[in-house]
Amino acid sequence: MNIIKLHDLYFKPFITKEEVAGIVKSLAKQVKNDLPKDEIPVFVGILNGCFLFAADFIREFNGNCEVSFVKLASYEGTTSTANVKQLVGLNEDLTGRTVIILEDIIDTGATLQEIYNIFSDKKVKQLKVATLFFKPEVFKKELPIAYIGKSIKDKFIVGYGLDYDGLGRNIAAIYQQTTPPKMKNIVLFGPPGAGKGTQATLLKEKYDLVHISTGDVFRYNIKNKTELGVLAKTYMDAGNLVPDEVTINMLKAEVDKNANAKGFIFDGFPRTASQAIALDAFLAEKGAQINGMIALEVSEDLLVERLLERGKTSGRADDTDEEKIRNRFNEYNTKTAILKDFYQEKGTYHGVNGVGTIEDITESLSAVFDTL
Ligand code: AMP
Repeated sequence: MNIIKLHDLYFKPFITKEEVAGIVKSLAKQVKNDLPKDEIPVFVGILNGCFLFAADFIREFNGNCEVSFVKLASYEGTTSTANVKQLVGLNEDLTGRTVIILEDIIDTGATLQEIYNIFSDKKVKQLKVATLFFKPEVFKKELPIAYIGKSIKDKFIVGYGLDYDGLGRNIAAIYQQTTPPKMKNIVLFGPPGAGKGTQATLLKEKYDLVHISTGDVFRYNIKNKTELGVLAKTYMDAGNLVPDEVTINMLKAEVDKNANAKGFIFDGFPRTASQAIALDAFLAEKGAQINGMIALEVSEDLLVERLLERGKTSGRADDTDEEKIRNRFNEYNTKTAILKDFYQEKGTYHGVNGVGTIEDITESLSAVFDTL
């Protein structure tokens, strides 16, 4: 799950769709348990925000009931306004009925007050309110709320029917407003030998970024004979990938060492789909994201040549033997190349020709970076 932008604001993942489903189920169960066996309640949803909640709640309730809606509006932008307007009223006769109000969220209570006003002369048998979310810090009224799905902090949320100026209702999970991402992060992508290391060093200087090469971190650990180094060495020497869990934990630790970074260049990471998913989730927790994957595109034959050449001076065991090099390409093609699709689907993949002078390639990369 990523940071998302709606109009001018940013939102980070807050409550998963699975958790939301669990809350709705439990609310429906509580309401059902509290009703006399033969009672047919009238559920009244408060539009627009409740439409998904009401639909799911009624299915979970799974019993005879009537359903109606009223439409009220209390929001302008992200702040609750005191003037609640009733836009579409109730016209059915509710005399003697049990009415359960379905609200997506209650914060100041202004809407709730209006609901109690609307129902004051309807001669109902009982009126109960079930809300999916509740913001106790800002609730100013002394009005009863019979069922609360989840109490949350006073931060603006969207998703599962809730909107920000019209957008966000379709999102299955709940997202919470967050500060605009301060960092600009890129994944520098390409097969082994494409020139990621060289270009990362230049871009890092130019844009004052932190460069994390997982290959370099592993080699540093091997050189210093750390526990991580010993573990990684066998995989690396053979040109195999180090297991995801080890790599992901190492990457997180490297990011956390640079809390004030303006941004990161990830080089050699992610290399598998699960690394990419872990990276998104990890950055989203920090209110950050991958702004783009920039890939250096170079043909494989040219790369083998380059790597064998590099092997003469780099001292890297995985650069000197054509078979090991081919194995690294095999790992790249079977596990890593799919990441192109991963970022392409998000619209954040940018290919750059990786053949040419170092300066020209830096310029092409910068041209993409500046647009992110
Ligand atoms: P590199 O310097 O990026 O070519 O990486 C050299 C070797 O380090 C790879 O062949 C892997 O054995 C290991 N390695 C580097 N990054 C990763 C990663 N993200 N996941 C798994 N293994 C990695």
